[in-house]
Order: sequence, then structure tokens, then C-alpha cells
Amino acid sequence: MKYFELGLREAVDLVRSGQITAAEILESYLVHIESADREIKAYLTLAFDRAMNRARKIDGRKEKGRLAGAVVAIKDNIVTRGLRTTCGSRILENFVPPYDATVVERLEAEDAIIIGKTNMDEFAMGSSTENSAYFPTRNPWDLERVPGGSSGGSAAAVAGFEAMAALGSDTGGSVRQPAAFCGIVGLKPTYGRVSRYGLVAFASSLDQIGPLARSVEDCALLTSVISGFDRRDSTCADRPVPDYLADLGSFQDRIRVGFLKETSLRGINPEVAASYRRVQQMVTALGFEVVSMDFPSWEVALPCYYIIAPSEASSNLARYDGVRYGFRAEAAELADMYIRTRTAGFGSEVKRRILLGTFALSSGYYEAYYARAARARQAITAELRAAFERVDFILTPTTPEPAFKLGEKQDPIAMYLQDYFTVAASLAGIPGISIPCGLTPDGLPLGLQVLSPPFAENRLFKFAFLLENNIKFKNNMNGINTRGRRKNEN
Ligand code: GLN
Repeated sequence: MKYFELGLREAVDLVRSGQITAAEILESYLVHIESADREIKAYLTLAFDRAMNRARKIDGRKEKGRLAGAVVAIKDNIVTRGLRTTCGSRILENFVPPYDATVVERLEAEDAIIIGKTNMDEFAMGSSTENSAYFPTRNPWDLERVPGGSSGGSAAAVAGFEAMAALGSDTGGSVRQPAAFCGIVGLKPTYGRVSRYGLVAFASSLDQIGPLARSVEDCALLTSVISGFDRRDSTCADRPVPDYLADLGSFQDRIRVGFLKETSLRGINPEVAASYRRVQQMVTALGFEVVSMDFPSWEVALPCYYIIAPSEASSNLARYDGVRYGFRAEAAELADMYIRTRTAGFGSEVKRRILLGTFALSSGYYEAYYARAARARQAITAELRAAFERVDFILTPTTPEPAFKLGEKQDPIAMYLQDYFTVAASLAGIPGISIPCGLTPDGLPLGLQVLSPPFAENRLFKFAFLLENNIKFKNNMNGINTRGRRKNEN
């Protein structure tokens, strides 16, 4: 086994006990990324020198943090001091932040090593990473296919063994959906669990940072490190952070698990439906009580999200005016400068969202669109809250279909439909985790989404860990050939 194949927990244990050095691990990544990323293209910026300096410092110290030697990739909408942060956009092409996001500070305080910044859909708007202003990222399981999005670079880096784990952001599914497409684990924490200080804002009432890793354990460890109160984010909750890793184990109480009614699986990909039914059988066989449930609001969650998210984005993105950050197109008049900068700096999906959002918020339309969507959001939240009176967890597929081919979804609505299962949790602010639950006959990974009540991440991890142990999805390196493509063996 090569060092870059080590899981995060394994690697950290070896480094902390002095059996290998962080520098040796990093060396191994250097060689692997050099060849694998030529095909996968997960990274926008690599920071090998910076990472090696950190590794040497960590190796030289006696006291080592909880993430000593962990090689972590960061989505490029999370700011890193002195390291370019583009948000996948031309408008921030040369933006070098003067400060670190809280999550980055917390990772580094525990001796994690940041290896680079990952590709993403511009401003996190998209589900395939094809909206990156730079290049698309490819799915390590099949290079003709997308890795999902918007945290597609983070997911592909982890699945392609180009990082042990990564951070992404999830506004409507951007951690969970790429995790599903790439056969890895991804968590969107409860809104307020993790500080958003230093996360470039897309839709502030929905945005949340979450980890992507190759196991539930690794996700749990990372979540413990990045969670917790932060004065610099007023939406960050002041609640104690459990040791999520130590909490993994069996349940003492009786667990009830909610599944979507058979009728709500109509219209989704048959492989996805079949794997969902297999999970239901497995959960029944494990002795849990299975409850079949109806969620009428699931139907309105998607349109509701596509009013609220663009509305907030149109306001958040007003700050890119060519004066304060990054790119500027010169012009004689100030108004012309704004227009030219934004015309050249934003891609078409970002412009579409700004237009949609501005329209939904404009006087005369506000009541019909934004206010209505806000009411729908309350109804969705109430429906989920009521559901959690009856069950402990709700299980759904993460995505309506497995990873699709690059260029396949030209129609924006077809792309938006990818978020069908993920946006309800975002609107309600509850946590959701995606874990791999099998492969299609073509060898593409499928994801299972597990939802829980707010701030119940400890139980969510526990249940996901139990499912993971029973599903036994293999995510090892035996399959990666010289092109970085994986041979499937599940
Ligand atoms: N795909 C969704 C969108 O385009 C979700 C994006 C996200 O979670 N950042 O808005």
C-alpha cells in the first residue's frame, strides 16, 4: 500500500505515534497527484511547498494535533490566507485573501495539512462542476462523467485519492450530491453548526460548510474539529460540540426509520429506486422499525429553493463591482466599469441566477415569488419537524440518477432537477449525510441520504456508521489504473 492510499484516521494514528512522518505522506501525494490530476482535474490551485513546510513543522514537534498529517483539500470558495481563492469565477481570478476562514484555522490548529484548493461550479451554482470558469472536473469512477457539484473538485479529489478528505459547501446539495456521484461520504451539518466566516456567500440562509471523506469515521472526526461557536459568524450556534468519533457505536433505544412511499419513487432512475428498496430491506432485516412516509412538500421544495437561493445570491453578489475584489474591466465612466466588469467576470449560470433573484425580489413581484417561497419554506420545515416526531431518521436517495456524462445536461432545468432530494433539508436547516450504497450495473456509485433532526449529528453519524458497516461499499485503490481511472469491484 502506498501512503496516499491511507484513510485519514489511519494516517493520523501513524503520524501521531511516530511510525511515519507527515512529510513522507505528502511526498507520496505529490507523485500521485502529478499523474492522477492530469485526468481528473480536481484542483484549481496546488500548494505543495506550503504543505511541505507545514508537514516538516508538524514532524518536528513533539505534541501533535488531532489531525496531524491529514492531507485535506479545500473548496475554492473557502478563503485561505495567501492562497488564491477564485470561487470558480473569473471575477475572483487573482483574489488572494488576507485571512483564513474559521474552518481553515480550526483544521490547521489540529495540524491538518492543506494541499490545495478544489474546482467548483462558479459561486457554487450548479450540480456538475461544468460551470467552473476554468475547466470541468472528471469523475474518477468514469472520466467521461461529471463528479457532481458544486463541490465536484473536492469529491473527485477524495475519490481519486488526491486528498484524504476535503471541505465543501452545501447550499442545496453541493456536498451530498457530489459525494454520491463519487462513491464517498459527505455531510451537510445543521445550519449554524459550522462557522461560515470566510465562506464566500451564495445564499446566506442556506449555506453550510461540510466535510467529504472516504468513511463515516473520517467525516465524524473532521466535523468535531470544524464545528462550534464563532463570534465572527452571527448565525453560528453556541452549543457544545460532541466528540462525534467517540460517539459512534450501537444504539440503546428503539430506532424508527422513515422511508419515502413507493409512489414517490416514480420518475426516478430505476437503478436508484432498486438500490433504495435494497436499503429498505436491509434496514428491516437489521431489526429497525421501518415507517413508510409521505412528504407532499417535497414537490414544492425545488421551486421554493430556486426562488430563495437566487434571491439571496442576487443580493450577495452585488459586492463584485470591480472596486473591492479581483477582476476589473476598465472604462471611462463608473457605471460602464461596473457593467463591463460584471459582464466579463460572471459566467452565464451566475448571470441567470442574479437575474432570477433580482426579478423575484422586485417590487410588484416580491409577494408572488419571494414571499410565497418563504411561506413554502415554513411549511416544508414544519412537515419535516412533524415527521421527526414519528421517526428518528429519514432515508432517501441522494440523487435521482447516477453520475451523468459531461455535456449531457444543457437545459438548466434538467440540472436543477438533480437537487430534488437534497434541497428540503437545506431549506429546513437540518443535517443530511450521503453515504455510498452500491453500484449500478455500469459500475457507477449510488448515494443514500440520511436526514435527522437539527443538531443530532452524533446520532446521524452513529446510524450512518452502522449502515456503512452493513453496506460494505469498497473504496480502495486497487482499481485506479495509470490514467487515474478506477476499476470497479463492488
Ligand atoms: N445544485 C444546487 C444549485 O445549483 C446546489 C448548489 C449548492 O449547494 N451550492 O444551487
